[in-house]
Amino acid sequence: METQQKHLNIFLLVLSPLAAGAVIWAIAGISWESLNSGVLAIAGLTVFSSCFLRIQLPRVNIHFTISDALIILAILLYGGEVALLIAVIETTFASLNIRRQGLPLKTKTIFVNVTIAAVGVFVANGAVKLIFISTQPTLKSGDLPGFIWLLFVMAISLFAVNSIGVAIFSAIKSARPVWQVWSENVVDAMVMYLSGGIMAGLLVKALEQLNISMFAAVVGFFGIMFLTFRRFVEDVKKSVEKAKEAERQRAEDAEKHVGELKHYIGELEHSGEEIKRSHDRFRHAAYHDALTGLPNRNYFIDTLRELLHKGRESSEYDFAVLIIDLKNFKTINDSLGHTLGDQLIKNVANRLRNVVRNNDMAARFGGDKFGVILKDLSLGDEPTIFAERINKRIAEPYTLDGRHVFTDAKIGIAYGNSDYTEAENILRDADIAMYYAKDNLDDCVIFDRNMHVRAVTRLQLETDLRFAIERDEFELYYQPIVGLKNADLLGFEALVRWNHPTRGLVPPNDFIPICENTGLVVPMTVKILRSACTQVAKWQNSVQSKHSLSVAVNLSGKHFAHHDLVDQIREVLNTSGIDPLSLKLELTESAVMENAEAAILMLKQIKETGVQISIDDFGTGYSSLSYLHRFPIDLLKIDRSFVSAMETNVENTEIVRTVVALAKSLNLKVVAEGIETLHQFHQLRILGCDYGQGYLFSKPLPVADIEMMILNDNAQWRDLLPSRPQVMIPENPSLHLHIVNSKVM
Ligand code: C2E
Ligand code: MG
Ligand code: MG
Repeated sequence: METQQKHLNIFLLVLSPLAAGAVIWAIAGISWESLNSGVLAIAGLTVFSSCFLRIQLPRVNIHFTISDALIILAILLYGGEVALLIAVIETTFASLNIRRQGLPLKTKTIFVNVTIAAVGVFVANGAVKLIFISTQPTLKSGDLPGFIWLLFVMAISLFAVNSIGVAIFSAIKSARPVWQVWSENVVDAMVMYLSGGIMAGLLVKALEQLNISMFAAVVGFFGIMFLTFRRFVEDVKKSVEKAKEAERQRAEDAEKHVGELKHYIGELEHSGEEIKRSHDRFRHAAYHDALTGLPNRNYFIDTLRELLHKGRESSEYDFAVLIIDLKNFKTINDSLGHTLGDQLIKNVANRLRNVVRNNDMAARFGGDKFGVILKDLSLGDEPTIFAERINKRIAEPYTLDGRHVFTDAKIGIAYGNSDYTEAENILRDADIAMYYAKDNLDDCVIFDRNMHVRAVTRLQLETDLRFAIERDEFELYYQPIVGLKNADLLGFEALVRWNHPTRGLVPPNDFIPICENTGLVVPMTVKILRSACTQVAKWQNSVQSKHSLSVAVNLSGKHFAHHDLVDQIREVLNTSGIDPLSLKLELTESAVMENAEAAILMLKQIKETGVQISIDDFGTGYSSLSYLHRFPIDLLKIDRSFVSAMETNVENTEIVRTVVALAKSLNLKVVAEGIETLHQFHQLRILGCDYGQGYLFSKPLPVADIEMMILNDNAQWRDLLPSRPQVMIPENPSLHLHIVNSKVM
C-alpha cells in the first residue's frame, strides 16, 4: 500500500510540473484576438460531446467521444495553445460530469486526467511542430499525404501520451504491470484517436472549401454516423446486458438449483435412512414370529436352503432338522384360554432358545409347532441326544398365572443329505417323522424312507376318501352281540369297511383316523347311522324274536364334539323308524374323558333322544371314577385286550371282574369284546358279564350273511353254553359291598 502511494506520488510529481508547464505555455502563447466564435463553438461542442455524447464501448473500459476529433481540429485550426486549454476544460467538465452521474471518481483522479490531457495536447502539438515546423504550410500546400501523415502523428502522439499516462496511473492503483494494463485496457483506444484524426482532417478539408453546405454535409454525415454508431453501441450494450443478465439469472438459477438439489439430496438421505429403518422392521417382521420373536418358517427355510447349497458345494452335509410338536396343547389352549396358551408357547420358545447353541437355529412355525436346525454335527447321534434334552426341558412344569401346566413334545428328526434338492423336502420329512412319533407314542423318531412311502400312501388315501362318500364305497359289516346268559342273538355292532376300487376291503383303523383329521368322519358317520338303523329296523320286523334286535354304532370323538350331532341322531331316528332304545351309540373312553364336563352335557342331550350310550374300549383310557357315575351312560364295553388275555393272565381276569363289579354298582350293563374261546365265554358268564361279541360267535359279516344267519338259526350258539350250571362268585372282596345284582345263573 505504501509503495503504491509512493509510486503515485512520484507519478504526480513528474506529471504535475509537465502539465503546469504546458498550461503556462498555452496561456502565455495564446493570442486572445484569435478567440473568435469558432473557438468558442469548438470548445462548447467538445465539452458537450465529452459530457453528453460519450459512448461507453461494450466489454472494453473505453468511452468513445468525438471530443478527441474536435481537439485535433482545434490544433489544426487554432493552434496547440487553444487546443490545450480546450482539452483541459473538456477533461475537467467530463470528469466532473462522470462524478455527477454517481461514479466514485476521486479529485486526484480528475487531476490526473486533466494533467494527462494537457500533456497530451502539448506533446502532440510539439511532435507536429517538430516534424512539420508548422501545421499551416502543410494545410495550405494541399499536400494530402503530408496532411494525412500530420494527422497520423497528431493522433498517435495524443494516443501515446493519454494511453501511457492512464496505463501508468491504473497500473499503480491496481498494482499490476504497466504493460499489462496498457495492452489489456487501453490499447483499444488507438482506433478512437485515429478515427478522431480522420474526422478532424475531413472537417478541415470541408472548411477549406469554404463551402458551407459541404461542411454541413460532412458534419451531418458524421452526426448521422455518430448517432447510428451510438444506437448500434447501445443495442450491443443492451444485448450484452441482456446476455449478462441471462447469464446472471442462469447462475442464480443454477445456484438455486444446486441449493434445491442439496436439500433434495438431504431429504433423500433422510428418507433413505427412514426407508432403511422401516425396511429392517419389515424384514424382521417377515422373518420372525410375532409372539415369540423366534425366526419363522420363511427364515428357517432360507437357512436350510443355504445349508443345502453349502452341502452341495462341499459334499458335506453336517446338519439336521428337528420338528417339535407339543402334546395336549389344544386341550390346554381350549381349557385355560388363549392368553395362557400364548404364555405357554412363549415359555417353550424361551426354553428352546436356551437349549440351542449360538450357531443353531430355533424357530416357530405357528401353533404349537417349532423347528430346530442343528449345524456342524460331528457325531451321528448328536440330534437324538439333543432331542432328548429338549424333551426333558419342555416336560418340566410351567407356572402360568399361578397354575402348574405340563406338556411334552414329539420330535421328528431328518438329516441333511445329498438327496435333498429342496429345503421344503427335508422339512417335510422331519414333519413325517414327527407324526410318526405321535402315532407310535414315541418321543422322538428319526426319518427313514419307509415313512415317506407311508406318508404318501396316507395322502393318497386322503384323496380317495373324499370320493368314497360320493361314490358310496363304504359298506357296513355287522358283528352279532350275544346275550351271555342264554347265548342268544341280541343285536349287532355295525363296523364300517371301505370297498376301495383298487385296494379291496380297507379296515376301519386304516382310514378312520384320516377321516377324523379331514373332518370327513361327520358325513361318513351320518351315512353309517342312517344305513345301520334302517337295516336293523328291517331285521327287527323280519325276526320273530322275544328280544328286539339292537344295533351299536361307533361314534368318533371328533363327531362327538360336533354341535349338529343331536339333530343328526333325531333325524336318523325319524327317517329309519327304529325304536331309539334299540340304538346304542359307542363312544371311546378317551373321547368322553378329554373334556368330561362338556361330555356330560352332550351325553345328556343325546340321552334325551332315547338312545343308549356305551363306553367302548373301556379300561384302555384313563377314566376318572368320579366322572363315570355322572355320565348318563348305559353300557361299558370291556376292551378286547383284557378279554383275550384272561386265560393266561390272572391279573386281566381281575380287571374284568372289577369292571363288571363296577358296572353293576353303577347300574350299567357290561359287554365283553373279542371273545374268541369257550373258556373266555364261560369265564365272562361266571363274572356276570351281560353281553359279548367275538369271533367265537361270529366275525363281522356283510348284510347278506347276517340275513342268512337270522333266517336260518336262532339258537345257533346254544351249544356253546356249559352243560352244567355255573355259579358266579365275585372274588374281589373290596367290591362286595357295591355289587348289587349278583345272581346265580
Ligand atoms: P371297536 O368299536 O372296538 O370294534 C371292535 C373291533 O374288534 C372290530 O374291529 C371287530 O372286528 C374286532 N373284533 C371283534 N371281535 C373280535 C375278536 O374276537 N377277535 C378279534 N381279533 N377282533 C375282534 P374293526 O371292525 O376292525 O374295527 C376296529 C375299530 O374301528 C372299531 O373298534 C372302532 O373303533 C372303529 N370302527 C369300526 N367301524 C366304525 C364306524 O362305523 N365308525 C367309527 N367311528 N369307528 C368305527
Ligand atoms: Mg365299538
Ligand atoms: Mg371296542
